Amino acid sequence: MRSVIILGSGPAGLTAALYAARANLKPLVVDGHEAGGQLTLTTMVENFPGFPEGLMGPDLIASMRQQAERFGTEFRGGSASAADLSRRPFRVTIDGAVEEGEALIIATGASAKRLGIETERKLMGHGVSTCATCDGFFFQDQDIVVVGGGDSAIEEANFLTKFARRVSVLHRRDKLRASKIMQDRAFRNPKIDFIWNATIDEIRDVKAGKVTGIRIRDLKSSAVTDRPVDGVFIAIGHTPNTQVFRGLLDMDEVGYIKTHDGTKTSVPGVFAAGDVQDRVYRQAITAAGSGCMAAIDAERFLESTGHA
Ligand code: NAP
Repeated sequence: MRSVIILGSGPAGLTAALYAARANLKPLVVDGHEAGGQLTLTTMVENFPGFPEGLMGPDLIASMRQQAERFGTEFRGGSASAADLSRRPFRVTIDGAVEEGEALIIATGASAKRLGIETERKLMGHGVSTCATCDGFFFQDQDIVVVGGGDSAIEEANFLTKFARRVSVLHRRDKLRASKIMQDRAFRNPKIDFIWNATIDEIRDVKAGKVTGIRIRDLKSSAVTDRPVDGVFIAIGHTPNTQVFRGLLDMDEVGYIKTHDGTKTSVPGVFAAGDVQDRVYRQAITAAGSGCMAAIDAERFLESTGHA
């Protein structure tokens, strides 16, 4: 039986672990299906305070993990497949084994949706990105394509024009889903053009280890054309990793966990931190900040129930 179980090992989970470990709560961190979270998919991180020269995403995660470990965090692989939050201790099933905890911190993150093509996977972090805030800076004076037609895609397209020479928004329909005001801004931006009714069949050049172009399929005529580009940003939405908790915790219509008074969820003793409860900011630093809050909230909860 554990005082605290933390699900997820991105910046939110690892910061929660650091704080919980330093409060002598001997937390257990369950890595999750993508150990280290989204930061392990990025290359250089230049906006995490304290690192003026920037650092590699995987290195940042490795350091956070080492720091949490130093104070007594225990780690285990696997991910939660079921949970019983109806009584304490809470029970979480991880790869068939049951772990019990008096408090639970959910930091399972959100995953950016992908197109699902092989070349996208191979070039992720090498010219293909799901985060303009993280990677836009590397595309100074280059040609970029942004996939998607929602607020994220249009916001990213507008943002990327600060760096890029040209930004093409590629959308599967001929109408944007984005809010009117964002659309108007994009239509007025001379650096942005649109590729309507289209999808990407292939991203090149896997052999060269960088993006040099895309093969576009027109969804109306099925015609295929090649276009040289230096970067591909996928902005087709995120999915919070909350499937296990559907029906157990209050969530919004998309599945993000609702929190109140800091990181509290609808079940006392269960806390949520990072992207799993944040559809707005989604930054490593905000995830880490909410992980810290969750550990403090969990510690207070355990104290109030006599388990600290
Ligand atoms: P979204 O609104 O769900 O839009 C996703 C877009 O990607 C849609 O245009 C969709 O096309 C397209 N898409 C989805 N799956 C696709 C696929 N497999 N292949 C190609 N295209 C695909 O997601 P979002 O833009 O990330 O926004 C999520 C929420 O956050 C929204 O509520 C949004 O308003 C909010 N948000 C707000 C702001 C802001 O106000 N500043 C900024 C970002 C996000 P279809 O249109 O054809 O479905």
